[in-house]
Amino acid sequence: MSPHRTVRPAERPAVFIDKDGTLVENVPWNVDPAELRLMPGAAEALQALACGGFALVVVTNQSGLAEGRFSAAQFASLRAALRQMLRERGVTLTDFLHCPHAASADGRPACLCRKPQPGMLHRAARLHGLDLARSWMVGDILDDVEAGRRAGCRSILLDSGGETVWRRTPLRVADHRVDDWIDVAERILGDQRRMPNGLTMAGHG
Ligand SMILES: [Mg+2]
Ligand SMILES: [Zn+2]
Repeated sequence: MSPHRTVRPAERPAVFIDKDGTLVENVPWNVDPAELRLMPGAAEALQALACGGFALVVVTNQSGLAEGRFSAAQFASLRAALRQMLRERGVTLTDFLHCPHAASADGRPACLCRKPQPGMLHRAARLHGLDLARSWMVGDILDDVEAGRRAGCRSILLDSGGETVWRRTPLRVADHRVDDWIDVAERILGDQRRMPNGLTMAGHG
């Protein structure tokens, strides 16, 4: 091997997960841990995905911080409570990233991290050595789908009723549209089994 060749460590695929309306029931502006409710099947699906070799990273827009609806300390407490709730169900998150910025007046992102921008996904990939091309974004609105596509991931729309506008562009077309977390896990793990370079194909030759 050439001494000049850079050998990169093996990169893991990830599942990026929206929080409100996807991981937990959407309670607008909630920072009360007592109001946290995991979506049905989410913990079981995330366990299965972690067993399949996927890093699990929450990526959430929290414009309530910029708008003064709750404090950074309140949000940090909520995040800690959610991570603990998941740990009690056997799920350890690799990371939990949030965008604290507001949308601009025309509704478009004013920063590089607010979804549909892919900044949080890129940041997580750098921090944790994630292979974006083998990763997935799961969310309940088309901004989640677009953020995933912009980062080079595939995307799943978990349609829990959050999307109301349905503004369609080529980047806002999900690879799969499903109704529950069981289907999320089945689509991702089923696809992984079919991939010629998938982790689960090792030893089949
Ligand atoms: Mg959402
Ligand atoms: Zn941001």
